[in-house]
Amino acid sequence: MSYQAPRGTRDILPPDSERWAEIEEQARRILGAYGYREVRTPIFESTDLFVRSVGESTDIVRKELYTFTDRGDRSLTLRPEGTAPLVRAYLEHAALRQENPARLAYLGPMFRYERPQAGRYRQFWQIGAELLGSKEPAADVEMIDLFVSIMRAVGLPDVTVLINSLGDAACRPVYRERLREYFTARLDRLCGDDAERVKTNPLRILDCKVPSCQPVIRDAPTVLDTLCDACREHLGAVERGLKSLALQVEIAPRLVRGLDYYTRTVFEVHASSLGAQNAVGGGGRYDQLVKDLGGPETPAIGFSIGTDRLFMATSEARGAASVPAPDAFVVARAPEAAEEALAAARSLRGVLDPREDRPLRVMADVQQRSASSQMKVASRLGAKIVVFVPKDDDGYGVRDMIEGKDEMKQPSLESLRSWLRDRRRAAEGAR
Ligand code: AMP
Repeated sequence: MSYQAPRGTRDILPPDSERWAEIEEQARRILGAYGYREVRTPIFESTDLFVRSVGESTDIVRKELYTFTDRGDRSLTLRPEGTAPLVRAYLEHAALRQENPARLAYLGPMFRYERPQAGRYRQFWQIGAELLGSKEPAADVEMIDLFVSIMRAVGLPDVTVLINSLGDAACRPVYRERLREYFTARLDRLCGDDAERVKTNPLRILDCKVPSCQPVIRDAPTVLDTLCDACREHLGAVERGLKSLALQVEIAPRLVRGLDYYTRTVFEVHASSLGAQNAVGGGGRYDQLVKDLGGPETPAIGFSIGTDRLFMATSEARGAASVPAPDAFVVARAPEAAEEALAAARSLRGVLDPREDRPLRVMADVQQRSASSQMKVASRLGAKIVVFVPKDDDGYGVRDMIEGKDEMKQPSLESLRSWLRDRRRAAEGAR
């Protein structure tokens, strides 16, 4: 019997896993710089939370939820997105509401039963941020600027921001009706799903990807004609704010997103390296969601970035990653010295030293190999230095594997460790 990762999922192996961690580290650094703090919510929630927030007529809820019943007969769902769980946590914990507005973030896996294809998985990762408690355009500008800063930090300076407004409770119904009329008159040129959407949610048709529907969608009325004055002003202020930060922004009057909770501003960010189809991420305002989930009136805005897409977009720029070589490999000269080799390796890493924020990478054999086999392993791993234990009267033997010559012996593990650190620093300086 052989097992494989379930369809639509994959293992992220080294060195990809290392680049993946680097991307998340950069994102955390930027989120912190903007004052956003991470909340880790559970991977599953009550099914109802997602049905109520994401919306019953969305593809996500209709076709893509991973829902199961637990042993206590509760209906639970693997989270398909991060905003609803964060809002749930915001309402559950007063500590998150102390700051107004609250600046919160999340990183982690999401689950949607989608048809697997390039860049689309059933388990994928997102990095997201939410700003809860402000209705001002400045909040939208901060959010989008934060998004773009994360893109820059991971090496994607070349991005385009598409923004649109979906209107509010006053003007969106007008637009929805206008779209319904328009699409109803052209039902014969739309796919079956769209024919259904005309009844439930005509805005969603704008997001349909079926090629034969595109001509009808292309000529559909845009929201810009029906926006009320307040929404129009809001959109204008966001656009001006982004331009004053010198961000490249375009109004995309037919942009809609796959979740129902958005109001007013919606946006998507595209990286030139991914092509027009694939947004790296997007987001928008959700001024009603907190209230809909039982909280007080709390206008809010957020985004999510697809980490898988960030990874894809940055892969081309990077080229092949190198395997990290050990700074040193400790060789036991004789089988009796195997334990001493492990202890020496541990001490050379410096992991027990609270001042050490960047331990050395030091490895030793755990297979009881002969000294000459250990040397071969060290060389295969690309270890720069081999240290021999036990020491003799002159100290620990040291060999430079790159130059192929012996170095001066070191009297103690402490002196050896500081010598190794100096070498690492010198090598980094030379790069
Ligand atoms: P959404 O939560 O639908 O607004 O999506 C935000 C971003 O998450 C998208 O722009 C993608 O980068 C990413 N994303 C959404 N669904 C998937 C998926 N099935 N596989 C990989 N990335 C995804």
